[in-house]
Amino acid sequence: MIDVKEVEFDELDCSYNNEAVCPYCSYENVIILDGEDDSDENETECANCEKIFMYRVRVSVEFDSQPIENYYLKERQRLQSRIERYEIDDEPYKWQKEMALQSKRELAQLDKWMERLIEN
Ligand SMILES: [Zn+2]
Repeated sequence: MIDVKEVEFDELDCSYNNEAVCPYCSYENVIILDGEDDSDENETECANCEKIFMYRVRVSVEFDSQPIENYYLKERQRLQSRIERYEIDDEPYKWQKEMALQSKRELAQLDKWMERLIEN
């Protein structure tokens, strides 16, 4: 077996960071993720002390939530004001008419969706 001794390092300093903190010198290494093999353990060379160390990418997911009524009202207002914006001209361009129509369709869908939810 190769003679390797465990190295003491500040585990807390090396966890949950925005950059990969070098466990040897604490330098914050910027690592560009290429999305190919970012899972599991990766090795990299510290840009400061040039020692090789291992890092793992931690991906976190966060949720925002709100009452369905609030969402509906906000969404409705957003679409309504968009329609008004596209219908403001007396002689709208073709794309303006199309955008207004599209928004009206979305509005009708939203209403239908909300109606179905209230029924239950
Ligand atoms: Zn280092």
